[in-house]
Amino acid sequence: MGGMGGISEMPGITGTPDASDSEALATLQRVFGYDAFRGEQEEIIEHVVAGGDAVVLMPTGGGKSLCYQIPSLVRPGTGIVVSPLIALMQDQVNALRALGVRAGFMNSTQDFDERRVVEAEFLAGELDLLYLAPERLRLDATQDLLSRGKIAVFAIDEAHCVSQWGHDFRPDYLTLSVLGERWPDVPRIALTATATRATHNEITQRLNMPTARHFEASFDRPNIQYRIVPKADPKKQLLAFLREEHAGDAGIVYCLSRKSVEATAEFLSRNGIEAVPYHAGLDGGTRAAHQSRFLREDGLVVVATIAFGMGIDKPDVRFVAHLDLPKSVEGYYQETGRAGRDGLASTAWMAYGLNDVIQQRKMIQSSEGDEAFRRRAAAHLDSMLALCETAQCRRGQLLNYFGQEPEPTGCGNCDTCLTPPETWDGTVAAQKVLSTVVRLQRERGQKFGAVQIVDILLGKRTGKVIQFDHDQLSVFGIGEELSEGEWRGVVRQLLAQGLLAVEGDYGTLVLTEASGAVLRREREVPLRKEPKKPVSAKGSSSSSGRGKAKAVVAELPEALVPAFEALRAWRAEQAREQGVPAYVIFHDATLREIVTVWPTSVTQLGSVGGVGEKKLVTYGEGVIEVLAGLADGGAAAKTPDQAGDADPGADHWPEMDAEPAPEDDWI
Ligand code: ADP
Ligand code: ZN
Repeated sequence: MGGMGGISEMPGITGTPDASDSEALATLQRVFGYDAFRGEQEEIIEHVVAGGDAVVLMPTGGGKSLCYQIPSLVRPGTGIVVSPLIALMQDQVNALRALGVRAGFMNSTQDFDERRVVEAEFLAGELDLLYLAPERLRLDATQDLLSRGKIAVFAIDEAHCVSQWGHDFRPDYLTLSVLGERWPDVPRIALTATATRATHNEITQRLNMPTARHFEASFDRPNIQYRIVPKADPKKQLLAFLREEHAGDAGIVYCLSRKSVEATAEFLSRNGIEAVPYHAGLDGGTRAAHQSRFLREDGLVVVATIAFGMGIDKPDVRFVAHLDLPKSVEGYYQETGRAGRDGLASTAWMAYGLNDVIQQRKMIQSSEGDEAFRRRAAAHLDSMLALCETAQCRRGQLLNYFGQEPEPTGCGNCDTCLTPPETWDGTVAAQKVLSTVVRLQRERGQKFGAVQIVDILLGKRTGKVIQFDHDQLSVFGIGEELSEGEWRGVVRQLLAQGLLAVEGDYGTLVLTEASGAVLRREREVPLRKEPKKPVSAKGSSSSSGRGKAKAVVAELPEALVPAFEALRAWRAEQAREQGVPAYVIFHDATLREIVTVWPTSVTQLGSVGGVGEKKLVTYGEGVIEVLAGLADGGAAAKTPDQAGDADPGADHWPEMDAEPAPEDDWI
C-alpha cells in the first residue's frame, strides 16, 4: 500500500484487508471523504489496481483524477502522473497534500535543490503520487531515476495530446509508447475528455496499449444548463446574464480574438464585475497571475481565448459563457464542461448570431490547410451550427453527437426544453432571400453580403442601395413583413442549413447546390422563431448580491444562509493563511452539506461528503466552533418544516423583477 504518511487508519473501514475493491472504497472514504464511487470509477479503479491497462474517456468534471489517484494509493509504490499542465502542478500537489496524500512534482519551474528533494522522496518510497511533464519523462536521467524506485501505476492525463490531429498535440507524448516496454508490469491508464472514437483509437495505438480495457463514461453533465441565445449586443447581453443570474460567481467568458477578450474584460470591470483578460498575447507573468487569481478568489470572471482552461480543476466555476461560436462541438463541450465540477447548478450560456456563421465560414475558406483540413473544419462547424439551430433538446443533441443515448423526453434543463422554440414555415422567406441573391448575380453580375440583401428586402434606401440602383430591382421591398433582426435570423439559418454559402474576403452570399430545390418549390424550409425574451435559469433567482455563491445559496433554506456565509468567511481566512485556493480547504458543496447536517461534534462532521480524515483533523474543531457560534440560527434552521425546504428561492422572484429584462437587446 502506498501509505498515508502518518495518518492512522479509521477503525471499521479497513475490516477486509485482502479485497482490493474494498480497499479502494475505504481509501475513497478515508482520504477523500466521499461515500461512493461515481459511475464507472469503481470498475476502472478495480481494473487498474488489479494491474490492467485502461483507456478512459470521461467528460470534464466526470471524476478522472480519482481513477489514477486511488490506484496510486492502493498499489505498492508511487503513481507517476504524466501531464502537460506544468503551471497547475503546484496547485494539484497542494490540493493532494491538504488531503494528506504525499504528492510531489518535477518540472522546469523548480531549481536543482527542489528537484533533488523530490527525487530523494521518490527513491525512499515516500511519495504516493509524482507529477511529471512528458518532456521530463522523455529524458534518460528521469527514466533511470524511475527505474530505481517502485512505480504503482503510470497515469497519462490529457492523453489526447498524443493525437496529431487534435489541437493540443505535444510531440513528447509520442515517446510515452516506451513505458509499456520498459515497465511491462506497471499498469497504465490513459485519460481524456476528448471524445471522438477516432481520437480514442489513436490514443490506444500511439501509446501502444493494445490490451487496454476501454471505458467510456456518460457524457451527460446534468447540473449544467445549456442555453444558446441570438446575439444582438453581446457585451450587454452578457452583462445582463451575469447580473441577473451570476452576480458574485466565478466563471469563464470565451471570446475568439484577443481584442474582444480585452474589450470584454474592460467592459465588465467598468460595469462593476471583477474580470481579468487571459490570452496568448499576454506575457507569461500576467497570465500566471490571472490564472492564480481565478483559482484563489471566490468570484472572479476570466475573459479568455481558448488558451485558457485546460486542466483548470476549480470546482466552483458557476458559468461558462461564449460570446463567439466555438469551432466544434468537441471544443464547446470541453469548454462548457469547466462549469460545475462540484455538481451544483451551473450555466453554459452562449450568444450566437449571423456574423459568427459568416466569420467562421470565411476563416475556413481562407485557411492555409489543405482540402481535407477544410472539409473537416466545415464538418465541425456544421455540427456546431446544428446544435445552435436545433429546436430539440440541446443535451439530447450533444449526447447524440458523442454517440450516446439521450432521454427521449428531453432533459428539462436546457433552453429548448424550458421554453420550446416555435418553428414556422420559412419557405417563402427563404425564396425571397435566395431570389435576391440570384437577381443580383444574374441581372447585375454582383455579389453582396447579408446587410445589403436584408436592406433590399426591407426596401431601405440606404446610401449603398442608391449607389448601386438596388431600389430598381423587382425584389426591392418584398420583405417588409419581417423585421431586420428576423431577416438576419433567416439568412443565418439558411447558412446553417447549407442553403446559402459565404464566399470570399467580404463574406458575400452565394447559392449552393441545395438552393435550387427551394427556389423551384421542391423543398420546404422549416425555421426556428427568434425568441423575444431570454430564458431565465430556474433555481438561480436569488438576489443576494455580490460576494455570495448564488447557485449554492439559492438551493439552501434561507435560515441556513447566514451559517453558510459564516463558513465561507472562515474558509477564506484559512485559505489566505495557507496561500491556497478556498476550494482546497472545502468545496462549496461540502459547506452546504455541513450547514444542512449541522454536526455538533467532530465525529459527526466526518460523515459529511468531502470531509476526509486529514481534513477532519485539520479543520474539524474550527468548523464546529463556527457552527457553535451560530447555535441559534442553526436551531431555527432545523425546524422540520424548513429542513427539507429545497424550493430554490421562489420568494426572491419579486425582487428580481425589479430589474427588468433587457428586452431591447433581443431580436
Ligand atoms: P475531471 O478530471 O474528470 O475533470 P475531477 O477528477 O476533477 O474531474 O473531478 C471533478 C469533481 O468531482 C471534483 O471536485 C471531485 O472532487 C469530485 N468527485 C470525483 N469523484 C467523486 C465521487 N466519487 N464522489 C464525490 N465527488 C467526486
Ligand atoms: Zn433539454
